[in-house]
Amino acid sequence: MKSHAQAVVIGGGVVGCSVLYHLTKAGWKDVVLIERSELTSGSTWHAAGGFHTLNGDPNVAKLQAYTIGLYKEIEEISGQSCGLHLTGGLQLAGNTERLEWLKMAKARGRYLGMELDIISPKEAKDLLPLIDESHFVGALWDPIEGHLDPSGTTHAYAKSARIGGAEIVLRNRVTDLTQNPDGTWTVVTDQGTIHAEHVVNCGGLWAREVGRMVGLELPVLAMEHMYVLTEDMPEVAEINQVTGKEVVHAIDFEGEIYIRQERGGMLMGTYEKACRPWSPRQAPWEFGQELLVPDLERIAPSLEVGFSHFPAFEHAGIKQIINGPFTFAPDGNPLVGPVRGLRNFWCACAVMAGFSQGGGVGLALSNWMVDGDPGFDVWAMDVARFGDWATLGYTNAKVQENYSRRFSIRFPNEELPAARPVQTTALYDTLRAQGAVMGDSWGLETPLWFAPEGVEPRDIVSFRRSNDFEHVKAEVMAVRQGVGVTEIANFAKYEITGPGAEAWLSGLMTNRMPRTGRIVLTPMLNENGKLIGDFTIAKLSDERFMMFGSSQAQVYHMRWFEQHLPTDGSVAIEALGMGLVGLSIAGPKARDVLAVLTDEDITSKAFPFMAFREMDLAAVPTMVGRITYTGDLGYEIWVAPEYERRLYQTIMAAGATHGIVNFGMRALLSMRLEKNFPTWFRELRPIYGPFEAGLERFVDLSKNDFIGRERAAKEKDAPTLKRVTFVVDVDDADVIGDEPIWHDGAVVGWVTSGGYGHFVDASLAQGYIPAGLANGASDGNGAFEIEIIGERRPATIQPEPLFDPEGLRMRG
Ligand SMILES: Cc1cc2nc3c(=O)[nH]c(=O)nc-3n(C[C@H](O)[C@H](O)[C@H](O)COP(=O)(O)OP(=O)(O)OC[C@H]3O[C@@H](n4cnc5c(N)ncnc54)[C@H](O)[C@@H]3O)c2cc1C
Repeated sequence: MKSHAQAVVIGGGVVGCSVLYHLTKAGWKDVVLIERSELTSGSTWHAAGGFHTLNGDPNVAKLQAYTIGLYKEIEEISGQSCGLHLTGGLQLAGNTERLEWLKMAKARGRYLGMELDIISPKEAKDLLPLIDESHFVGALWDPIEGHLDPSGTTHAYAKSARIGGAEIVLRNRVTDLTQNPDGTWTVVTDQGTIHAEHVVNCGGLWAREVGRMVGLELPVLAMEHMYVLTEDMPEVAEINQVTGKEVVHAIDFEGEIYIRQERGGMLMGTYEKACRPWSPRQAPWEFGQELLVPDLERIAPSLEVGFSHFPAFEHAGIKQIINGPFTFAPDGNPLVGPVRGLRNFWCACAVMAGFSQGGGVGLALSNWMVDGDPGFDVWAMDVARFGDWATLGYTNAKVQENYSRRFSIRFPNEELPAARPVQTTALYDTLRAQGAVMGDSWGLETPLWFAPEGVEPRDIVSFRRSNDFEHVKAEVMAVRQGVGVTEIANFAKYEITGPGAEAWLSGLMTNRMPRTGRIVLTPMLNENGKLIGDFTIAKLSDERFMMFGSSQAQVYHMRWFEQHLPTDGSVAIEALGMGLVGLSIAGPKARDVLAVLTDEDITSKAFPFMAFREMDLAAVPTMVGRITYTGDLGYEIWVAPEYERRLYQTIMAAGATHGIVNFGMRALLSMRLEKNFPTWFRELRPIYGPFEAGLERFVDLSKNDFIGRERAAKEKDAPTLKRVTFVVDVDDADVIGDEPIWHDGAVVGWVTSGGYGHFVDASLAQGYIPAGLANGASDGNGAFEIEIIGERRPATIQPEPLFDPEGLRMRG
């Protein structure tokens, strides 16, 4: 084993071998993979080997498509077969809601270039004669689905990596990792130490334990997973003989099972409700290439449904039951990327679908390590998407919830209960007592809407408008016609101080920094000129700035900020987390309410739109910005948590004469739609540029240099895409996000978000279409359509916000 390497990859499962291969492909030859035992000896060797492209996140789906396309390449380079069986697969719907869900998946597949089909139960039976079609109402057919040989595939990656110059060291455990003062790593192994520039955690079943070597508690947990292998079945032989093909794959959501052919018999795997974690606190290092004891009783309910839906299984003999562990993050997506605060420590773990995702994970991570950017939108897989609240206990509860719901529908208005509430503010009980229906906003309970007296504070989950519709409408109307208050503790808040603060911010942000006492809105770009942030920045004094952004992206942004901080100590940035909370009051009466709380002059002249000031309100110290996301007259008030209750109560008392109401996130989001305002992670993501996103007002190419400036200047002259708002002609279902946008019979774009604009009484959708089309069609022609739950609905571009297009209300 060598003593120095540019990168050490820990773990020789399918993911570690893919990362190793991609690093060599990107030109890094001095790379070493260290494996505790043999290649595949973690969760990889006993996998069922299934692969598919479909994923809830279109960006992850693209990386899955890349993975599947890669197998031919590594077979050719290595001469090692991956044992591919491209059978195609069916997703079987047992009820109308599932069929609607599949129709939405098919629609999403359109702009990803996937050829998916919705078919009838009869057609499904023709493709898969093993089903009793009376249990199903329809199915989705995906021709790019199949299975492979897990061991052959891992070895194909490994051989290709070796050919590319990598070294692989087997039967050698990494026992410790220490970071040297220069940021490089000492990797301590059973066979000696290696000095490495970069370390990658591909520890799979032991990824959590490898994380602990550097003081990390990664949100990852292994779950037991079982599949049953049958003896040879005559029905299988018959299908093979008649069709000349293998039996196609299938997922049966009602039974929580998947099936595929395995030699002359079948394989049936389950995601059972009564699931069980493996080694919830500490994975044993001595666990070898072993299987766990099967527990048929646990999966019996699933098998029972399976036997009735696939009757031939009933009399098939069971040859073997495989029970093996594999890992999940709380949301089921991988944990990939650099870890905040640990220079050159990378993760590629919690990959629960290694044969669909392993290639894409390897590509994104190697791009990131070699070029400094993953090259794709990998937010859904970014290790930075969880905060400190994702503790061991949280992770264990959420992973079990996610596993047991693997084949359940997640509705757009569905909040999942496990491990909640985690974080609450001082107002939690007060708001709940007033009917607040709470949602999880990056681990914080946040009011979504308020049920009036006599109405149960509960969402009825649906793809269509639901029981909250009229109540959210009432909140929006009350704000637009009077005044409302909402909690905004869930925003991210940062304080930036020091003599270098302004210059540093200006070098990161596209907009000019504000004058003292003022606010600016500003995007932040990466080197490629793509959007990686969107902030509100206020200047309190020459050396003190407040910054507000997306809560979900706090770790993601802090990772970036810390990477770019000057080393001379001239700038300090602190993420304030729940150390600062906030309330927003909005509506034409907002100033009247605020005036009761202070003696200061808050007339529009003295405290205009986009002003920011420290002031006492209700006798407590606050910071107030004259801005709200509602696009109405309003204020955002920031306060230390110990004062929040008093502030809220005083606002409610002061607002009583104006009929003040509580409003939740759903009303807030409806109002921002009426103003065509974008949201972070929907309209604003690292696949879009600032001009494409319509943020040109906040990009000043003539100020000092800033990251991404050159690329942004190019984009300004020739944007590829354009964000637009549509008014959609709908029945009872508004867009959710990710629907295809049609124009003249072809899919030309996709929806990013939308919903109902309650005040303007219109169903609204935002999305991206080719820039040329947006300009050409800005006269509002009606040739666009948006596909909502399988139906193409007429959509018209709405270039101006429907509510207050001149911004008179917010400036008033
Ligand atoms: C029963 C079952 C069925 C499955 N079916 C499918 C399927 O159909 N399709 C699919 O895509 N996925 C399936 N999976 C999941 C799939 O197995 C995983 O996604 C995949 O194995 C993850 O690979 P990995 O490389 O991340 O982890 P692992 O395979 O666990 O590899 C990690 C490696 O790291 C090594 N390691 C850990 N710590 C150290 C250390 N300190 N020093 C040195 N080496 C170390 C381990 O020995 C191990 O070899 C299934 C899993 C199971 C259990």
